[in-house]
Amino acid sequence: DAMLVLEGIAKSYNRGKPSEVTVLRDVSLTLGRGEVVALVAPSGAGKSTLLHIAGLLDTADAGRVVLNGRDMDGLGDRARTAARRQEVGFIYQFHHLLPEFSALENVILPQRANAVPQAEAETRARDLLDRVGVGPRAGHRPAALSGGEQQRVAFCRAMANAPGLLLADEPTGNLDPATSEQVFGALMAMVRETGLSALIATHNMELAARMDRALRLDQGRLTPGIG
Ligand code: ADP
Ligand code: ADP
Repeated sequence: DAMLVLEGIAKSYNRGKPSEVTVLRDVSLTLGRGEVVALVAPSGAGKSTLLHIAGLLDTADAGRVVLNGRDMDGLGDRARTAARRQEVGFIYQFHHLLPEFSALENVILPQRANAVPQAEAETRARDLLDRVGVGPRAGHRPAALSGGEQQRVAFCRAMANAPGLLLADEPTGNLDPATSEQVFGALMAMVRETGLSALIATHNMELAARMDRALRLDQGRLTPGIG
């Protein structure tokens, strides 16, 4: 029983123009429940494109996306947005936290967008922040936090609505090795504890080797292993 199935995904940009570029040719992938898979790719290979299609932020030219047993084919924008908010959490290389809001508020807001009552949203936000060790920093704005703290808050925001799928695009790419280890450790601990499925793009082979398996994206296709 899979959390995410991609079947024959193809994607080009600038279709039909001289500048057309085919990024994904034939991408298929089955991500089991609780499975953590590394996505390894050279820069420009299309990993952001793939993560955005998997997370319903972008649509493929061909192929099928099945998320939590539900075929996303033919769903309208509103249904796709609803499915994304319910099922998917994203983290990026840079935290993209809202600068005017505290860490706590940054984790509360996505829940409010999902109609979770304020008190319940705050309790959950505090619990998430505590679990990754930034509870004591909850009242600070992102600018007052270290890079590692910012990424752990961004991870809590991604987890705010208890998604079944985590999509991460170089989540430790901007951090020094020690901080990277700390953030990755916190992330993996919570992923394992909650039984989350995760697809984590990384250039870090050591981190990739600690996931359940690795897939390499090259020439628009996925191949097993780090290669
Ligand atoms: P990665 O995340 O692996 O670096 P991306 O998915 O961001 O790769 O991009 C893959 C390729 O598609 C790159 O050559 C990039 O320039 C191109 N590309 C990405 N987005 C667009 C876009 N909106 N329009 C045109 N080309 C794009
Ligand atoms: P929207 O306002 O488009 O409905 P949400 O607030 O539901 O988006 O965001 C859901 C998740 O998708 C968030 O984690 C957010 O970071 C991510 N997200 C939304 N739009 C984009 C985008 N255009 N590019 C990258 N990530 C996005």
